[in-house]
Amino acid sequence: MTKQDIQKIKLLLATPKHIVIIPHKNPDGDAMGSTLGLYHFLKKFNHYTTVIAPNDYPNFLKWIPGNNTVLIHDYQTDTCNNLIKKADIIFTLDFNAFHRTGNMETILEQSKAIKILIDHHQEPHNYAEFMFSDVTMSSTCEMIYHFIDMLGDTNLIDKNIASCLYLGIMTDTGSFRFPCTTSTTHRIIANLIEKGADSAYIHNQVYDTNSYDRLQLLGCALNNLKVIPEFRTAYISLSQDELNTYNFKKGDTEGVVNYGLSLENIVFAAIFIEDTQEDIIKISLRSKGNFSVNDFSRAHFNGGGHINAAGGRSELSLNDTIKNFISILPSYSKALNDE
Ligand code: 5GP
Ligand code: MN
Repeated sequence: MTKQDIQKIKLLLATPKHIVIIPHKNPDGDAMGSTLGLYHFLKKFNHYTTVIAPNDYPNFLKWIPGNNTVLIHDYQTDTCNNLIKKADIIFTLDFNAFHRTGNMETILEQSKAIKILIDHHQEPHNYAEFMFSDVTMSSTCEMIYHFIDMLGDTNLIDKNIASCLYLGIMTDTGSFRFPCTTSTTHRIIANLIEKGADSAYIHNQVYDTNSYDRLQLLGCALNNLKVIPEFRTAYISLSQDELNTYNFKKGDTEGVVNYGLSLENIVFAAIFIEDTQEDIIKISLRSKGNFSVNDFSRAHFNGGGHINAAGGRSELSLNDTIKNFISILPSYSKALNDE
């Protein structure tokens, strides 16, 4: 994003506008933190601002300041579509292509609003008038901090904004331990704490609010963990029956894929989760080092993301998806063993 872009955006925001802010489908901490962080910021300028999430998000994110103002496109489709049609400006945060919003893809394609993309995923599509894309960033929340800084407005960051941005930086960096965490990330986190973000409270809300069922489901997932040492790969599967047994709720499988990656000598981890409602297998992929799960997912599982974290899907059965996955690994043998 150039200085000229920032000047133009400043001019745009100088008078109250109808603004819609949109995260990706199945929003995570970074998606909700960045959209609501920006929401609280824009509210200070008296814009008519609404966050519209494509679908619902997990309970461990429902404490976020402004949570009760979020509209869910799946539940309030007409209201949301009208707001999108009326919008002067649409911010799209934490995703790189309209199809990442699921059912909102068409209405976004048709929208005449000025689009502003802020995102850290690879290969952003070219739909936005203003694009702040940086794949080296830890999180979209970190980018919202930089965006506010470029506007010269960090003095306006209050406890609400700080809490939202802290949340997304925390979740996307695995609590400040993934390689995308830089000294700048830590400086921003320090500033956010000074502005009122309560780090202990936020960690507690996100990580220490497990249900008994969720831990039992984790036990089941760990029982299903398989290791393929020759390809330094570990994978977990969860069938719909297993999810039902433990009363699966949105977010219950968040982070489970990382257990595979925590094994010694493992550089590639996957989880395959059956979803009979959508009739797909949802796949999460994680890696260490230079092995790009973004490329792997784009090539084989209709997805993408970042070098070390990506998602994808398969329309085969759970068993066939896993067989397919295993059959692909030999062609990556060198890349996986060179790590
Ligand atoms: P997760 O495995 O947690 O669902 O996703 C990991 C990362 O990959 C996230 O940054 C997420 O936004 C991205 N991602 C997940 N699924 C997809 C997908 O289907 N397509 C693309 N392009 N990115 C995805
Ligand atoms: Mn993110």
